[in-house]
Amino acid sequence: MKISSIPHRAALCWAAFLAFNFCGFAPALQAAVAPTLRVLFLGDTGHHRPADRFKQLQPALAPRHIEVDYSESLDDLSPAKLAGYDCLLVYANWTQISPGQEQALLDFVAAGGGFVPLHCASYCFLNSPNYIELVGGQFLKHGTGVFKETIVNSDHPITKGLSPIESWDETYVHAKHNTNRIVLAERRDDTGVEPYTWVREHGKGRVFYTAWGHDERTWSNAEFVGLVENGIRWASENSPSQLKAREGLAPFGPGRTGAV
Ligand SMILES: [Zn+2]
Repeated sequence: MKISSIPHRAALCWAAFLAFNFCGFAPALQAAVAPTLRVLFLGDTGHHRPADRFKQLQPALAPRHIEVDYSESLDDLSPAKLAGYDCLLVYANWTQISPGQEQALLDFVAAGGGFVPLHCASYCFLNSPNYIELVGGQFLKHGTGVFKETIVNSDHPITKGLSPIESWDETYVHAKHNTNRIVLAERRDDTGVEPYTWVREHGKGRVFYTAWGHDERTWSNAEFVGLVENGIRWASENSPSQLKAREGLAPFGPGRTGAV
């Protein structure tokens, strides 16, 4: 029988991608054929100017098959809205979260959704110990300056291949550390060592946090954009919609990689 249906051909292409990825040869290919990831960027109208940062990030990620929508409405922390996304990115200074919004966020992540709080997101929702525990720590204080991070876990999929970020930024110090996490990078100075970028898991979902990102100087840094892209991809890996996209494909294995 002649193989001509588009869905079948798409499935074969995807199987080929998986095979390449399985063999570890696919970083460039991944951006070319991987299904689109959908990210909801939750900002606000505060001093971090999230809408401007969205305008920097969205064009950088769109060609990489990561679609980012922007919102300044906490009403979007609802099961119905979040169901349309693989990942929730928070970059804002909201101080309060309602019980319903908190539950929607926690349920989204527990079910496999990705959660990417950036910079000031570690000082959001001060009324929610559950949120602080989910993020993995809470902002305490900061100075300012140009500094370079120290990557302490260069084998992780998020940091692999990236160079340490050096940028002007706020020198975050955190409190309420949740040690149930893996630290990927630290900020070191004369006063000690501060965890700066970390990952953790919550139910089936994954969390990626970095303290980097006060203003356009860091958001225009190629290593920061690469870090955020990798963080979104890693955090979204267990998203229910991404898993659904792979349903119905025949399993592949050694000897089948040349099928197309
Ligand atoms: Zn800041």
